[in-house]
Amino acid sequence: MFTPELTKSPPRTEIGQMSRILLVEDEDLIRDMLVLSLEAEGYTIATATDGRTALTLLQNAETALGEFPFDLVILDLMLPQINGLDICRLLRHQGNPVPILILSAKGSETDRVLGLEVGADDYITKPFSMRELVARCRALLRRQRFSSLPQLAMLQFKEVILYPQECRVMVRGEEVNLSPKEFRLLELFINHPRRVWSREHLLDQVWGADFMGDSKTVDVHIRWLREKLELDPSHPQYIITVRGFGYRFG
Ligand code: CA
Repeated sequence: MFTPELTKSPPRTEIGQMSRILLVEDEDLIRDMLVLSLEAEGYTIATATDGRTALTLLQNAETALGEFPFDLVILDLMLPQINGLDICRLLRHQGNPVPILILSAKGSETDRVLGLEVGADDYITKPFSMRELVARCRALLRRQRFSSLPQLAMLQFKEVILYPQECRVMVRGEEVNLSPKEFRLLELFINHPRRVWSREHLLDQVWGADFMGDSKTVDVHIRWLREKLELDPSHPQYIITVRGFGYRFG
């Protein structure tokens, strides 16, 4: 019964201009308020009021254009038809890297951690401050812009090849499956060979400044990534531990 509406506002000259946001929210009042505020910031907003419509919008446009139609998704969790967590899980399973900001009345630590674990990039609890929400959207869009700066079809380091736009990775001629975080880590590494990264810096770049976990999260993901990249993960040739500092690639 709901149809997605695409509304455009005049472009502005700041960072947010032309960024496309999909807002998935079934509560009319919250949705209308968000559309007004985000349009005032110069963003282009599409809305969906149930999970199925949201998923259709996200998946169809991707195959039609060969590129991702949205720069950011603001996602309510309790939605008709398909809930937000399932949407998140499904998108990540399909390799869709679009930044996702969960906006939910479920505010317990378990809910927040679960949201981030299924692949969301940030989590805001209702009731929320509009200023904070806009600021976090801006931060996610900035990060996405940064990570997608080199629009190269392929990045190669020795026997590792990463295809940024297809979210695919080949190691020694064979495709390997990476989780979204592993993919982002590798993308960051391969864009900056031999640069030394501290755990905090990696957390900031890959998980975001608002991430609530600690730097052990980085170590765990590095271990998983090594198992997929290295011939012998206990003697890594790609992801090198730099004692006292962190990690470097190559
Ligand atoms: Ca809801």
